[in-house]
Amino acid sequence: MKNIKIEEVVKNENQVIAIARESPFYPDGKGGQLGDRGKIGPARVLKVKEKNGYILHYLDTELEPGEYDCEIDLSRRKDIACQHTAQHILSAAFLKTADLETVSFHMGEEISTIDLNAPFILEDVLEEVEDLANEVVRKCERVEISEVDLKEAETLNLRKIPEVKEKIRVVKIGDFDITACGGFHVENTGEIGLIKIVDTEKVKKMFTRVYFVAGERALKDYRSKDRLIRSLTTVLTTSSQELEKRVKNLLESVKEKSSKLEKLAELCASLLAKSMASKRVGRFEVYDFDGPQEVGKYLPKFLADRENTIILLRYPDRVEIVSNWLDCRKIFEKLKEELNIEGGAGQKRAIVSTSSSKVVEKIEEILEWF
Ligand SMILES: [Zn+2]
Repeated sequence: MKNIKIEEVVKNENQVIAIARESPFYPDGKGGQLGDRGKIGPARVLKVKEKNGYILHYLDTELEPGEYDCEIDLSRRKDIACQHTAQHILSAAFLKTADLETVSFHMGEEISTIDLNAPFILEDVLEEVEDLANEVVRKCERVEISEVDLKEAETLNLRKIPEVKEKIRVVKIGDFDITACGGFHVENTGEIGLIKIVDTEKVKKMFTRVYFVAGERALKDYRSKDRLIRSLTTVLTTSSQELEKRVKNLLESVKEKSSKLEKLAELCASLLAKSMASKRVGRFEVYDFDGPQEVGKYLPKFLADRENTIILLRYPDRVEIVSNWLDCRKIFEKLKEELNIEGGAGQKRAIVSTSSSKVVEKIEEILEWF
């Protein structure tokens, strides 16, 4: 059990912040890594920040200043150490395999990223890097931490030299990598278990962001993807080997069917237009269609040129007014004055978002008046 002396507690909006000069809690964001969580006395630590030489602990309950026992979430720290060491290994593997340098690193709660100095990285290179990184994991290399002065650091061939003047903390992974770093690391690469690259993305036009998971996160990722694939193979009654082919065939068949549907709907609209009865309203012939949208879409093509025609297309969520014989915006405006409607209108088409038949009655009333 560790001890902490809280100098001051500040309450600010909904936050309680316990301030200490020294803390066993590692702050969030320092060296690109996640901070510690745990408890100070009875309070849970939600976030840790370093500011002006003080450590700020964001708590879930109020505390009086004073000395407290504190407890650090060690499983979280182990996960952080695992992701961080995996980053060292991956960065070194990218450098050795493809001469790619890591320009930045970010550790997330679920996934971490490194940005590399190339606009894209070939799949083969990613696999080669992943293989090399996991070889280092399986070799169970010792991870040694030491402190050296700047002069000594210059002789060590560090992958990254920090801008500090005092002692430099050096992390050495077997003979594979040596770099300066202040974060948490595992003691032996075997503890990482597995490093998996899960995605890449081009960023800032010239870098590639590589997303990776390590340790338990890699197992979790494997588990959830495995579950997803098994669920998909059940739904699609196929094997995982055939899954991709099955999905492609399905998409192809959906595409083919929807193109056939379009043709049939157009044919149906043309036949319907021949026999459809209209209703005389004022000086207009109103065609009132209440049916599938696929067919309704093509009706104006066959009806709109008939003299003084107004076409009303009723769908479950809206009514469309189509006409080449009057300005549909005028009907829409008039409708809006009288009913609480939403939608929009152009000269030849107005769309009224409603399912009420009252709207159609109202439109007919307005047409009488036009
Ligand atoms: Zn590190």
